[in-house]
Order: sequence, then structure tokens, then C-alpha cells
Amino acid sequence: MIPFLDLKRINAQYRDELIEASTRVIDSGWYVQGEEVNAFEKEFADYCGTKYCVGVANGLDALILILRAYKQMGRFEVGDEVIVPANTYIASILAITQNQLKPVLVEPDEKTYNLSIKLLEQAITPQTKAIMAVHLYGQLADMKAINLIAKKYGLLVIEDSAQAHGASLDGRKAGNWGDASGFSFYPGKNLGALGDAGAVTTNDENLAMIIRAIGNYGSAKKYEHKFQGVNSRLDEIQAALLRVKLKYLNNEIKHRQEIAIAYTQGIKKDSLLMPILSSGRLERENIQNHVFHLFVIRCSERDKLQEYLTKNDIQTLIHYPIAAHRQKAYSEWGYLSFPLTEKIHQEVLSLPISPVLSLESRDEIIDVINKF
Ligand SMILES: *Cc1c(COP(=O)(O)O)cnc(C)c1O
Repeated sequence: MIPFLDLKRINAQYRDELIEASTRVIDSGWYVQGEEVNAFEKEFADYCGTKYCVGVANGLDALILILRAYKQMGRFEVGDEVIVPANTYIASILAITQNQLKPVLVEPDEKTYNLSIKLLEQAITPQTKAIMAVHLYGQLADMKAINLIAKKYGLLVIEDSAQAHGASLDGRKAGNWGDASGFSFYPGKNLGALGDAGAVTTNDENLAMIIRAIGNYGSAKKYEHKFQGVNSRLDEIQAALLRVKLKYLNNEIKHRQEIAIAYTQGIKKDSLLMPILSSGRLERENIQNHVFHLFVIRCSERDKLQEYLTKNDIQTLIHYPIAAHRQKAYSEWGYLSFPLTEKIHQEVLSLPISPVLSLESRDEIIDVINKF
């Protein structure tokens, strides 16, 4: 079986260094909020090109804490609207509702699956306070257009960069386009810890300080509590492991992009919709804005295709089978209709792509799909 994502093999590549890093933490006697977290925050901020990075417990918390901090700063009131793509992973939306804000779901662009700029502007009301731009599957949303609209209407821009570490346009990376950005280092993400982890990046010193305090019981100084905070911190051991993996992130992205190019050139089926780059043809010179966390194709006979691939020992996944507004958790939105989003959820299929997918497996996948 060609696995969708072989985490064991991915981390085995760095086994010695990962063991050395965890040993360093074990032997230090210091496990929370120490040197490893400080160093990782600095290294990841440098990587993204931002002034600040705050480590938190996971990606969902990163998004929750950004919105919570803006509430604390008086930028949101309960019930204010935040625009978010209807086809995103549910975490983007949970972060909004957990802050008692109102998600305004907007259909994506049919080609890139990221926010449709036209529909985004139509969705703005006097209650709109922010846009949450999700870089879905690893491709940067149209941040230039989004930032222009945000400026025109005085809105905050929050990036959900959980799938897009390292994606860049004109040399500016995911996490450095909005007012603040949430990252996830869930093990399966492009930069994955060996457990849960996340971070916020921003260029706003005050925001960074407030997020850091809220994530630490609302305290910037020990036993002095300025906010009714939570406990959402990045562990020393995960920070140490992430420092190892960050060094290899660019190489891993390159491998993903090479696979994406080979799939695009090799798969010749008119019935399949291949990923489309907003920057141009899917070729080496245009690919920096997509780090291919997922390689998502569309097929009107998706279930049949998936079954066929499983029979041929190729594991695929569906990101995602059910749209957020169709989930039981949001049953109050059952009346809403997003035809394109629903169609996308019925047709998408994610092919294996990873830093350790071999060229033989890649070619076999292309071959098998061409015979469907
Ligand atoms: C993974 C993911 C998250 C949440 O990250 P966790 O670390 O799992 O909490 C948020 N948004 C998107 C788009 C994701 O893919």
C-alpha cells in the first residue's frame, strides 16, 4: 500500500537529531516556557519574516487567541462579523464562534478554493470587523486583493496559515500578510511536531504581548493576572523538535512541489480537475505560492475513483467530506446553501504527497490514475 502520508518515515529521516533535541530538554530540567521555546519563536518569526512569534498549544488555539486578544483590545464586540471561506476546515470557524463572533461564510473561488474576492466584498456589512483568509491546501489566498479590501473597509485580516508554512508571493511568506496569523504544527502539517503545537505570527508588538499573556493564565508577570486567560503554551520538547524540523522545511516543500509538477504533467484524464495555481501554470517558476500540503483533485465520480485507487494499493483521503454548515455542530445553519462548497466537498480527493513519497510511488500513482 502506498500510504497517504508516512509520518514514521518522515521523522525517521531526522531520528538522531530529534533524539538529541529531546535529550537536551529532558536533561535540562526545564519543560515549559524556556530557552527552546524562545529560540523556536525567534527562528520561526525569522522564517516567516515577521517581528514576533508566540508559541501556543495548537493551531485552533492560535486562531482563538488572536480573536480573543483583539476582543481584549476593543476591536471586536460580541456578535461582530468575521468573513471566512465556507469550504475551510472547521477549526477556522470554531475559532470565530468560540469568541461569540459571527462567522459569515463565503463561497470560494472555483479554481483556487480560496476566498472569492468578489463574493468577499459583497458579504461586507456594517457589522463586519475582520476577514479570516485561509491558505487552503497550501496555496496563499489572494492576499494583495484581500488587504486592499480590508484597508478600504477598515477590517482586520487574520490568516489561517495552518496548511501553508513557507508559501510565498513576491518573497513575502504566509504569516506575514495579515495583521496576525495562526499556524498549526500538528504532526501531519508541512511543519509537524511530534504531538500538538501551534503559533501566532504578527508584526504587532502589543498584540503579541497580549496573546502571550492570555495563553499563560492572563499573566505577563508571575502571579499578576491582567486577563482571564487560559493555559495554551508550546512545550519545550515540541519546540526543540520543531527547531530540528524547521531546518529541513524548505527541502521538504521542494519535494512536495516536484511531485505536484509531476502529477500535473503526468496525469492525463479530462474527467479530473487538477489543482490550479493563482500565479500561473503549475510549473517550477510559478509554484512558490503553493506548498502543496495537500494535492487535491476533483472528480464527479470521486467515490468510484477512491475505491479504484484503494484496490490498487493507493491510499487517498478526502479534505473534507462534510462542509461546516452541514455539520451537526452547526445545525442552526442547516438552512444555508453554498452550492459550490457542497459540490467541492462531494468531488475532492487528496492524492498521496509528502517529503518521503518516492519517485517510483509517484510514477505508479500517475500510471494507475491514467488507467481509471
Ligand atoms: C489543522 C488546521 C487547523 C487547526 O490546527 P490544530 O493544530 O489541529 O488545532 C486550523 N485550520 C486549518 C486550515 C487546518 O488545516
